[in-house]
Amino acid sequence: MSIHSKVDSVIRPEVRALKAYHVPDATGLIKLDAMENPYSWPDGTRQAWVEVLRQVALNRYPDPDARRLRARLRAALAVPGGMELLLGNGSDELIQVILMAVSRPGAVVLAPTPTFVMYEMIATFTGMKFAGVPLAEDFALDMPAMTRAIAAHKPAVIFLSYPNNPTANLFAREDVLRVIGQAPGLVVLDEAYHAFAGESFMDQLVRHENLLVMRTLSKQGLAGLRLGVLAGPRAWLAELNKVRLPYNIGTLTQASAEFALTHMVLLDEQAGLIRSEREKLFQALSGMKGTKPWPSRTNFILFRVEKANPDTVFEGLRSRGVLIKNMHAAGGILRNCLRVTVGTPEENASFLEALEAVL
Ligand code: PMP
Repeated sequence: MSIHSKVDSVIRPEVRALKAYHVPDATGLIKLDAMENPYSWPDGTRQAWVEVLRQVALNRYPDPDARRLRARLRAALAVPGGMELLLGNGSDELIQVILMAVSRPGAVVLAPTPTFVMYEMIATFTGMKFAGVPLAEDFALDMPAMTRAIAAHKPAVIFLSYPNNPTANLFAREDVLRVIGQAPGLVVLDEAYHAFAGESFMDQLVRHENLLVMRTLSKQGLAGLRLGVLAGPRAWLAELNKVRLPYNIGTLTQASAEFALTHMVLLDEQAGLIRSEREKLFQALSGMKGTKPWPSRTNFILFRVEKANPDTVFEGLRSRGVLIKNMHAAGGILRNCLRVTVGTPEENASFLEALEAVL
């Protein structure tokens, strides 16, 4: 038997059919593809952080429950009293933890589409079915379709990216509340872009016992740390915690995140800068001939190139040193669409200049 037939007979077909999550090489490019915060910390802050890391005992396993960090997060995220926190190696890992705990034959994950691709990918490799419900043309939840799909699939979990990646909008609050009311299982509000959105369901946790709220530090300048946070009632999180690997949050991440949370003012300032740059970038794209941007409540902007070929635009930008994300291949309402992360004023200017040259 060749190794390939062996692999084919051992690896599950749904895994073989997947494509690994692709991260393009950004060496030497202005990186506006992955919703990172473009700013670093001032020298003094970096120095103080290094001093904290000097104290870390790398020979010891991390605190498996990250107690000190969870206490700081609880305050920083304004988690309502009585609610618990579960930490993940990025919110990606929390999605995986949730789906590993609920997966059983026939169980369904439901989400409006297009949305964050990992919901479907993790559903697939945890052996679940994914039901995508297309958004309306204006990117709102299509409530009649959502209601029908929830009744038909009885999903174990519904993911709502709030705001949604890649469309950058917030769904109407009353629609989200209706989904929570109709859901027979869990609803996870993924608030990855909370720092740029100004809206949250965190305070609703106490009202809806099937609701969990997920956050991440990735979009606030700490993508390299890998720290995701799930907030919700103890009854759910105690079960999910059994599926989490014991030392999933390393000591360096715990120490660095604790440090960062004592500098929330700095993180908030950076988020504020990104929000004001986002508005300038939106205005510039609105004024440019041949581009249609959508308003954004995140740190990225989705825009359509109306006459040009999106693949040519993407490649043209890359050859001029700017990496963004081409969404066109997803089709549907994303046809001719590209997604750009808000960078520094200089990076945004380079992007706009390159885009103008390419169009
Ligand atoms: N949720 C959404 C909606 C996202 O867009 C992303 C990252 N692109 C994530 C979760 C994953 O973030 P993390 O870095 O915390 O794994």
